[in-house]
Amino acid sequence: MELVEESPHRYRIPAHGAMRVPGVVFASRALLTDVRQALQQVVNVATLPGIVGASYAMPDVHWGYGFPIGGVAATDVADGGVVSPGGVGFDISCGVRLLAADTDAEAFRRALPAVMDGLDRAIPRGAGPGGVWHLTGPGQLERILAGGSRYAVEEGYGEARDLTRCEDGGAVADADTAQVGPRARERGLAQVGSLGSGNHFLEVQWVDEVYDAEVADAFGIAAGQVCVMIHCGSRGVGHQICTDHVRAMDRAMPRHGITVPDRQLACAPVDSPEGRDYLGAMAAAANYGRANRQLLSDAARRVFRRAAGARLSLVYDVSHNLAKIESHPVAGPGVDAVAGPGPGASVETGTGPGAETGPGERRRLCVHRKGATRAFPPGHPDLPEDLRDVGQPVLIPGTMGTASYVLAGVPGGDAFASTCHGAGRVLSRHQAARETTGAQVRDRLEAAGIAVRPRSLRGLSEETPEAYKDVTEVVAASEGAGLCRTVARLVPLGVVKG
Ligand code: 5GP
Ligand code: MN
Ligand code: MN
Repeated sequence: MELVEESPHRYRIPAHGAMRVPGVVFASRALLTDVRQALQQVVNVATLPGIVGASYAMPDVHWGYGFPIGGVAATDVADGGVVSPGGVGFDISCGVRLLAADTDAEAFRRALPAVMDGLDRAIPRGAGPGGVWHLTGPGQLERILAGGSRYAVEEGYGEARDLTRCEDGGAVADADTAQVGPRARERGLAQVGSLGSGNHFLEVQWVDEVYDAEVADAFGIAAGQVCVMIHCGSRGVGHQICTDHVRAMDRAMPRHGITVPDRQLACAPVDSPEGRDYLGAMAAAANYGRANRQLLSDAARRVFRRAAGARLSLVYDVSHNLAKIESHPVAGPGVDAVAGPGPGASVETGTGPGAETGPGERRRLCVHRKGATRAFPPGHPDLPEDLRDVGQPVLIPGTMGTASYVLAGVPGGDAFASTCHGAGRVLSRHQAARETTGAQVRDRLEAAGIAVRPRSLRGLSEETPEAYKDVTEVVAASEGAGLCRTVARLVPLGVVKG
């Protein structure tokens, strides 16, 4: 496959065969090793009906189900554009939340062991059932699917201000809970407020470097400060919804006259019964994922208060596996989406700044971000007032042994205002577990001063830092490509792993 270097952090795969648009890969040369399979998936995605601009890959791209992880694709709703569950992934609304403590690392050191022990007891995790909430009946699950973090806060699990620092105010309004099947509900009942396994974590970190003090201040973080980062999603609910709706779309594709190069790209027009049903169910799973992170925040807050006398304030909560209806300027067919100033306001809130200045016409798009993070620029109307001038916080976990980053959205951000979502895997779970043992990983982290509270040692070995790309390189490539700006680096003090 031809890969044309357009600039040091932007590569193009010219449209060929059935591709309707080119592929655009944001990366550095070093990050382009071992991504052949993922780039084939970028090519496959470019064949989807209604796709506009380009099929994008972020610098952390790696192989995924149908779409690559680190993939962004938008389809034109009014032009037969499709939605594909594979473009969201099985862990619908998996995402990251960052909380900042009112203490710095030095003052906190002595409390760390007690905090870690408290978290070890308070944070439900692992592959099976168990959660912060024991639901009393299906009515409560219904309210979680419809109300997300908002419902959790109403029930006393958080503060009103939390919601202003959540994407979509903590819940999306278009959840259609009737599209959540019985098996998904059954799985969801027992897992409300739980991390899940493997790659999901709750980490105590500290801010060891601030690159932009003004933006960091607006976000609510400062050098030396202790933070908590939570990475989890919608557990069995999202997984089951993805499974159910992939099956339904696979059956419906012939009726819609759609063929795809890979069955894992099963899709249906956004404007079709199957498309609408999936988006309604996906939104319900997204709300479940948000409630999940809200409940785990509350559990962490209790531990911090009790064991360290510290308060945690929400910095931001954002998903990295989601499809959203947004409006963005789009240039003519086969041409890259225009990187105009101020990409998309969501259609719900009308047109955003830059609506008239971008050369392309604004279109209503279904933007798939799978292992990619929305990164709204400064001035975007969907940002809370106190973040309007600085842009959206973007939360990038790295590994439990290295670093994680806080970034910000920038004016004219490409790929429909999206950026990376993590370091990205280089080794599969299986390969990673062959390279090292969980006990070795634990001992190495402990020797480096990082407290580890794993649920399983096998999980630790699968998540060894060597299983991931260099997060610093990924973040630098993302910034170099003009997708975001680096605000701060966080390093781990302790990790609670699924
Ligand atoms: P994903 O959503 O693709 O499963 O994971 C997102 C990112 O989380 C991964 O690409 C990886 O960089 C990061 N990650 C996985 N485990 C950990 C961890 O224990 N701590 C931190 N800080 N990051 C992690
Ligand atoms: Mn996940
Ligand atoms: Mn994730």
